[in-house]
Amino acid sequence: MNLRTAVSVLGLIVVTCQAAWGHPGHTHTDPTGSGLHAGFFHPLLGLDHLLAMFAVGLLATQIGGRAMWALPAAFLGMMIVGGGLGIAGFAMPGIEIAIALTVVTLGIALAFGRKYPLLAAAVVIGLFGLLHGHAHGTEMPGSTQPVMYAMGFILATAGLHLAGVGAGLLFVRGQQDPLFVRLSGAAISLAGVMILLGAI
Ligand SMILES: [Zn+2]
Repeated sequence: MNLRTAVSVLGLIVVTCQAAWGHPGHTHTDPTGSGLHAGFFHPLLGLDHLLAMFAVGLLATQIGGRAMWALPAAFLGMMIVGGGLGIAGFAMPGIEIAIALTVVTLGIALAFGRKYPLLAAAVVIGLFGLLHGHAHGTEMPGSTQPVMYAMGFILATAGLHLAGVGAGLLFVRGQQDPLFVRLSGAAISLAGVMILLGAI
């Protein structure tokens, strides 16, 4: 086992342990903390958002080419649309379960290691972004600084996409250890199942 594989495996263990014993997912009903700071840290501290947004970046590099910018753009754009639907009061029952399923699905998609058709991937990723955005749009009317919260949330999401693309470029494009992304996918789907169990 070379150093890179060892680091990858260590990363997987950390992710799954966090999911199992840490803070699996989180609720979307608490309107406290509504400024830029809260918006920025919410996706970073909520394992469901963090894993899904990072996975979008990884998947973008797995498909390559135009997917590198199109998938993060689809997620971000539709997340804003979803936020708007939430603000408008458009109800989506079972949103927590749906968000957990986005993590499971993205993990499985990575684990299979395929180059999915760009349009189909962008549509599905856009739908996932819509769900992540909606969960927060519903809180917006109760927020004291909704625009700042949204700005922070969007910034952190873009950062997580970039981190995923960066990790993907490092491990996929370099062909040093293409197994990294597939194993990460397996770990992400496992963590998603744990989040799902917590959401049901
Ligand atoms: Zn959230």
